[in-house]
Amino acid sequence: MTPISTNNKTRIALFPGSFNPFTVGHADIVSRGLELFDKIVIAIGINAAKVAPADLEARVAAIKELYASEPRVMVASYSTLTVDFAREVGARFLLRGIRSVKDFEYERDMASVNGQLSDLESVVLFCRPEYGAISSSVVRELMSYGVDVSSFLPKKQ
Ligand code: ADP
Repeated sequence: MTPISTNNKTRIALFPGSFNPFTVGHADIVSRGLELFDKIVIAIGINAAKVAPADLEARVAAIKELYASEPRVMVASYSTLTVDFAREVGARFLLRGIRSVKDFEYERDMASVNGQLSDLESVVLFCRPEYGAISSSVVRELMSYGVDVSSFLPKKQ
């Protein structure tokens, strides 16, 4: 991705994940993150995503479409270390969300490792209670049984 042209006061956060699929829980973290940051780069980690290139492109395109009218949100995929990609796009912050104690322990460890590898600040938001049980894996499972999952997927902004 081309580095975002900014002055160095611009607060750019990278929101990395597999987003398979991007849920209302993820969208809520982005909209709350926009209160804190000037720009957010939603970044699909290719290693984490483990998908065919065409599926990855479709996933990027679908998230871009959601934010087509929000110029402060960008969408990309990356296959490098998250901290390296953050540096590439000029992000000084990593944005993540937590739903549970299990997420907390994982996010704490990731924030610690990423903090040792870089000077990135991890900013972790608590999820809203109504989204606490929503995960991409549950949505995928429901989809595999043909359940209508539209209430778990965000609408275009
Ligand atoms: P990863 O594969 O890196 O865990 P995910 O795509 O599952 O990535 O999630 C990206 C980020 O969004 C993670 O920080 C995760 O904890 C957070 N997240 C996932 N679902 C929700 C939700 N329902 N509410 C708030 N945060 C969430």
